[in-house]
Amino acid sequence: MRIAVVGQGIIGLTSAQRLRQLGFSVHVFSKELFHETNSLSAGAYWWPHKVYPEHRVSGWAKISFEEYRRLQDIAGSGVFFQKHLRFCLDVDDSLYALDLVDEWERIDASEYGMACAAAFSVMIPVIDVPKFMPYLRDQLLKAGVEIHIREVESPEELFPEFDLVVNCTGVWASRFARDPLVYPIRGQIVRVSAQTDIQGSRRLYQNQGGLTLILPRSEDIILGGTSQEKNWSREPSTQDTQTILKECAKLFPEVKRSQMLGISVGLRPGRSEIRLELELPSPEKPIIHNYGHGGGGYTVAWGCADEVAAIAVRALGLEG
Ligand SMILES: Cc1cc2nc3c(=O)[nH]c(=O)nc-3n(C[C@H](O)[C@H](O)[C@H](O)COP(=O)(O)OP(=O)(O)OC[C@H]3O[C@@H](n4cnc5c(N)ncnc54)[C@H](O)[C@@H]3O)c2cc1C
Repeated sequence: MRIAVVGQGIIGLTSAQRLRQLGFSVHVFSKELFHETNSLSAGAYWWPHKVYPEHRVSGWAKISFEEYRRLQDIAGSGVFFQKHLRFCLDVDDSLYALDLVDEWERIDASEYGMACAAAFSVMIPVIDVPKFMPYLRDQLLKAGVEIHIREVESPEELFPEFDLVVNCTGVWASRFARDPLVYPIRGQIVRVSAQTDIQGSRRLYQNQGGLTLILPRSEDIILGGTSQEKNWSREPSTQDTQTILKECAKLFPEVKRSQMLGISVGLRPGRSEIRLELELPSPEKPIIHNYGHGGGGYTVAWGCADEVAAIAVRALGLEG
């Protein structure tokens, strides 16, 4: 049976992989080139930022955590585990993630020159996007998945050529699925040179304002960033760059010694909750929606992909 996956971001590629592993013939469609997708602009590390609802996210995030644990042992996957320090200026509604990891502890923020309500040290997966995404894409191509650069106007366009369509269009689902609940959360980050004395990552959590983050990867360090809701601009802003450099230097003064390598901007697909469900506009046109992952697409992708695969099996009457 033939399945069309619309989207080659992290959500489309993980969905395609799980479907291919079940033996389906899988074709991926993307209106953007691979390096132009929002997913390629992410850091990324495992943590549920602006992704809902908690009761479903925690299950998907746990499955994804386990998958990254498996991937870290594969040479070239770009996945590794790293110590992450989280300083919370405000009450943090994502701390349920601590129940999903193997290792974490409270720390004394004052030892790091910080004054805040609570602080934690936690071991979490880092997904080194420029390495991991090409690795994942290569796995798909080797497994026989075909990737087409083509804009699809609506899911209906792909029937009857395909038996099932999986919608992984991210923030563009506002148009593709005509969903008014989807909105962009603009993320600008600055890439700077790596330093041996910056090993673990650090994040300052606050309810308002920017998303201050220092994330060392294998060949550079990501300085974050912005989290601007309903802002569709993919152009870098000089003012944002200056704010990011200033705030990150307060959190970890050593970053001032790094050199700037580049700036990128991506649009996180914001939504009150992830839409992961089957839609049947008519019995012979099953559509699985998988979008609205906010700032946590990498954190939940594998759990969501498993669910897409299970729904596909049921929708195509292949159970048992
Ligand atoms: C700066 C930044 C940092 C981030 N950091 C993290 C992090 O540390 N951890 C984490 O878990 N998450 C992080 N995120 C969030 C994460 O990147 C997103 O949740 C994720 O990228 C969403 O992936 P997606 O595949 O749904 O969307 P996208 O990557 O936007 O992919 C959408 C795909 O759909 C295609 N498409 C859309 N419409 C059509 C159409 N009509 N026809 C054909 N193709 C179409 C697009 O071309 C593209 O291929 C970050 C995001 C940003 C911007």
